[in-house]
Amino acid sequence: MVKIEIDKEACVGCASCVEDCPNDVYEMDDDWKTKVVKEEDCMACLSCHEICPAQAMEHKDIHVAKRLYIDRDVNDVISKIV
Ligand code: SF4
Ligand code: SF4
Repeated sequence: MVKIEIDKEACVGCASCVEDCPNDVYEMDDDWKTKVVKEEDCMACLSCHEICPAQAMEHKDIHVAKRLYIDRDVNDVISKIV
């Protein structure tokens, strides 16, 4: 599982990572710093890392990205064709 560490000293509280993460991994805490709330849902796309102006997060133990955008209807159709 991906491990995410937030450098709360570096975080400027822009909330870009909260808005950007497709899996709602982050929330803002009471001090308006990023808090990891659903680490297990991180698919290691590193979009948040790209967008963070302070480079305040670090992702560790990345092995394989989870497939997030699975359209089961499309997969069913494909499985009948191939
Ligand atoms: S790497 Fe992607 S899924 Fe993981 S916290 Fe960042 S934006 Fe969300
Ligand atoms: S994008 Fe970076 S600076 Fe902005 S709230 Fe998230 S961790 Fe903090």
